[in-house]
Amino acid sequence: MTNHAVVIVGAGPTGLMLAGELALAGVDVAIVERRANQDLVGSRAGGLHARTIEVFDQRGIADRFLAQGQVAQVAGFASIRLDISDFPTRHPYGLGLWQNRIERILADWVGDLGVPTYRGREVTGFAQDDTGVDIDLADGHRLRAEYLVGCDGGRSLIRKAAGIGFPGWDPTISCLIAEVEMVDEPELGIRHDGIGIHALGRVEYEVRDGEVIYKDQGPIRVMVTERRVGHVGHTSEPTVRELSEALIAVYGTDYGIHDPTSISRFTDMTRQASAYRDRRVLLAGDAAHVHFPVGGQGLNTGVQDAVNLGWKLAQVVKGTSPESLLDTYHTERHPVAARVLRNTMAQTALLRRDDRINALRDAVSELLSMDEPRKRFAAMMSGLDIHYDLGAGHKLLGRRMPDLDLLTANGPLRLFTLLHDARPVLLNLGEPGSLDITPWADRVQQIDARYTGSWELPVLGEVTAPSAVLIRPDGHVAWVGDLTQQGLADALTTWFGPPTAA
Ligand SMILES: Cc1cc2nc3c(=O)[nH]c(=O)nc-3n(C[C@H](O)[C@H](O)[C@H](O)COP(=O)(O)OP(=O)(O)OC[C@H]3O[C@@H](n4cnc5c(N)ncnc54)[C@H](O)[C@@H]3O)c2cc1C
Repeated sequence: MTNHAVVIVGAGPTGLMLAGELALAGVDVAIVERRANQDLVGSRAGGLHARTIEVFDQRGIADRFLAQGQVAQVAGFASIRLDISDFPTRHPYGLGLWQNRIERILADWVGDLGVPTYRGREVTGFAQDDTGVDIDLADGHRLRAEYLVGCDGGRSLIRKAAGIGFPGWDPTISCLIAEVEMVDEPELGIRHDGIGIHALGRVEYEVRDGEVIYKDQGPIRVMVTERRVGHVGHTSEPTVRELSEALIAVYGTDYGIHDPTSISRFTDMTRQASAYRDRRVLLAGDAAHVHFPVGGQGLNTGVQDAVNLGWKLAQVVKGTSPESLLDTYHTERHPVAARVLRNTMAQTALLRRDDRINALRDAVSELLSMDEPRKRFAAMMSGLDIHYDLGAGHKLLGRRMPDLDLLTANGPLRLFTLLHDARPVLLNLGEPGSLDITPWADRVQQIDARYTGSWELPVLGEVTAPSAVLIRPDGHVAWVGDLTQQGLADALTTWFGPPTAA
């Protein structure tokens, strides 16, 4: 039996991000992944929203993604484009980048951090006791961990074995997605009809002046809605014949499809785990929530779950914080995904085509062309408005910390660079040395700096300049100072554990 402090099941985007976060915190973490390598059948998610790019920037790895993707205005609601180029962020855009490439970048990062990954190994069950979890693998091996995290996707075995409910809504729409070659030249682009939404495009593309320009050659990515929802379940394995029939039903031809590299089915089944934790077992990503891909929020929400959970789990494993800190993971992240599920169901309804829904869509489109509704919805879709309820107070409290250009005694510094190693930061913008956090100095970095710019948050606009800010490793603000130290010791204890005795 091999021991680790934390075992993660699944090396998808969520599991990889969580492994990176735990490794940065110095935790002995390992991943178990059924796939033999990081190759992904099909391309799945098409990119990243602004907040996820910020999250990667907080760890110093955003450039790896930006270098490979296509920067574009990707935020939208039911395919109604929402421009965020005037948003107060260093990344007022999204990134077109297929999931297989996102995963490879994350896997390289996790590899650089030295996380062991048991590849080609499948978890078949587990048993938890008061001190840890025994994890069974299909090949007869066993692992033991203090905590087990199921990042094993929508059909999560960990969720089922933990007996955690997955309430929600059965599918009403079923789509096939495939990468294929075609004998005939297809009509590329999006089509709507009585059956639903369909799209044909090449896997390789560029964005020029906001327009997607497909390469002249290469595999075609097909997304076609089926006439019927015959398959209950998140996905099931479809055949070339089913794809051909679905294409003929919509386009009158299957364009001579051949040599598929992938064909899969997805639906608008919408479900969420009723609890994100059962004692020593936690869930994150698709294991905790599934929904239709419209709006492109699934992978993004999973990566952000991981960034919320990672530092908390690390502190509990290291004994710096009590186990109750883990309850805040459910309290903070369950409402975020619940909102994603609601907005996705609303978008799915708007994608239907009949005269009445078309009229409703026109009305929503007109509303979203107005500045305030556009900002609100764009902030929701890009993840820039996420607010954890940490009580009343300054508007920054519980929200994402902006990436300020600071001036320190050692020269200029971007705030996000202070978060690269995933440690909390107390940023003092008042009198240097005026805050004393000696009992937490082993855990919290303290920085004296000056900032002369404005304080602007997405949607909310300008907020009062604080004199100090306590920033959690996930980039959310845990305490805001107004020239006094009032409440700081409580916030430090809540989030980073009790004070060390002098
Ligand atoms: C067509 C489509 C388009 C999408 N577009 C977008 C988009 O544009 N933007 C977006 O944000 N999201 C999008 N999504 C959603 C996105 O793909 C998922 O939300 C994302 O993959 C979830 O990541 P995850 O790591 O939680 O789970 P997964 O990616 O499902 O990873 C789970 C991993 O666990 C492994 N595993 C499972 N069971 C076991 C086991 N028992 N033992 C060992 N390993 C196991 C699997 O092999 C897999 O590698 C799209 C999805 C689809 C289907």
